[in-house]
Amino acid sequence: MNITADTERRSLNVAIVGGGVVGLTCAVALLRADVHVELFEAAARFEEIGAGVGIGANAARILASLGVLDEVLVKTQEPGLTMGSFSMKSGMDEHQLIYEYPWVAEDDGVGAHRASFLDALIAFIDPKFTHFHKRCVSVLTSTTESPRQVIHFADGTTHEADVVIGGDGIKSSVRTAVTGSSETRVAFSNTICYRGLIPYEAVKAAGVKTDFGRPIMFLGKGKHLVVFPVRNQALINVVAFAADHTIPIGSVQLPPDQPRVILVPQEEMLKEYEGWGNDVIGLLSCIPKPSKWFIHVVHPPLESYVKGRIALVGDAAHGMLPHLGAGAGQGIEDAYVIAGLLSNPQTSPSNVESVLQAYDRIRRPRAQMVWEASYRAGRVYDGFGDHGLSPEGVEQDIGRQWDPVYKHDIDNDIEQAVAWLKEMFIFA
Ligand SMILES: Cc1cc2nc3c(=O)[nH]c(=O)nc-3n(C[C@H](O)[C@H](O)[C@H](O)COP(=O)(O)OP(=O)(O)OC[C@H]3O[C@@H](n4cnc5c(N)ncnc54)[C@H](O)[C@@H]3O)c2cc1C
Repeated sequence: MNITADTERRSLNVAIVGGGVVGLTCAVALLRADVHVELFEAAARFEEIGAGVGIGANAARILASLGVLDEVLVKTQEPGLTMGSFSMKSGMDEHQLIYEYPWVAEDDGVGAHRASFLDALIAFIDPKFTHFHKRCVSVLTSTTESPRQVIHFADGTTHEADVVIGGDGIKSSVRTAVTGSSETRVAFSNTICYRGLIPYEAVKAAGVKTDFGRPIMFLGKGKHLVVFPVRNQALINVVAFAADHTIPIGSVQLPPDQPRVILVPQEEMLKEYEGWGNDVIGLLSCIPKPSKWFIHVVHPPLESYVKGRIALVGDAAHGMLPHLGAGAGQGIEDAYVIAGLLSNPQTSPSNVESVLQAYDRIRRPRAQMVWEASYRAGRVYDGFGDHGLSPEGVEQDIGRQWDPVYKHDIDNDIEQAVAWLKEMFIFA
């Protein structure tokens, strides 16, 4: 090993802004690779909402490779990778089967309780590297000989690092440092959803007949529900979507001061699904106080996830519609790739800008492909696909839409990025 490069690498100093699922995965991956990292979170503690998140097979493989999957399964109380593929049913009448997505055991993931998933990641990070009440307001580049990034926080303090990674979610403040513009690049997706987590026993007691051992979607015109179990089937996670597909994303702007998540009375949600079938109404009746989400996405897509020594990961880079259950998974892929490149023995403060360019080259096309596929999937579920909501139409439009997400060799991506760095004579 090149001693000089290795010594330089050890002195590489990385700061992560934002401690959500993606920022934390990034911190774990870097710390495991012996890269110095400090994490700055705006809130008083690491926090996730009490809801479910599907960890797809691609993300589960990364968690396993980082050595954290077992802890995730323990903390989320899941017996293993047991979340199979979706069965799609009509939201109306007798909930007739529309499309059974082909089930392949190797594509199984985990339906996880979000807060417990976060707890599992936190367990791998030494608290001395984490800082709370640190809301980043800007990132500036100092113009010294060896440029350093200076993070400015709302409390007036600053922190310097060689590299800043923005994992600060859809409302990212690091993003403006990357785009170099005050334009937010965030748009309302014309989609809202109601969310709830219900004891499975309560669902059965409400007379709901559908078996949720397997993830289920209930489809209808302009609306659909995603339902899957968490906590080893003790709880049922419900997300009920409603969207306006007749207008392009970005054509409606919500008032900037309107909260993006609010609690609403159950009646509002029930009214939205008036006339839907027994099991849909039964499920929704079990959510006394649903949260309502106004889903925003990064749009138009960024031209780069990187500027100089600043890089974006997760929703800060590519916040997408959740219709493939793949947004966090894409962020976990970002974290794995950026950590894999920053911890390469040949990476040093002097070549790190090119290394981040390699990250952007490999990650942006893939994450954007998943963004587009998620958008398309939502249209199909809501009867706006090319072939309509009939079983034949949905089968034709959906086909095997999760294959490109789940069956992906992420280590090969890192190899390709390294090969490009060699072609550019950045790496030997
Ligand atoms: C309804 C719904 C269902 C979904 N289901 C799935 C699913 O099943 N599977 C899946 O893979 N994905 C799913 N997603 C997407 C997934 O939730 C997101 O992609 C993921 O949570 C993004 O993680 P993140 O760490 O990038 O951002 P966030 O989780 O938003 O975390 C950002 C963190 O940064 C902090 N922060 C923000 N601003 C600052 C600042 N200025 N300074 C410092 N810290 C800051 C925040 O406090 C927060 O802790 C879903 C999304 C929605 C809306």
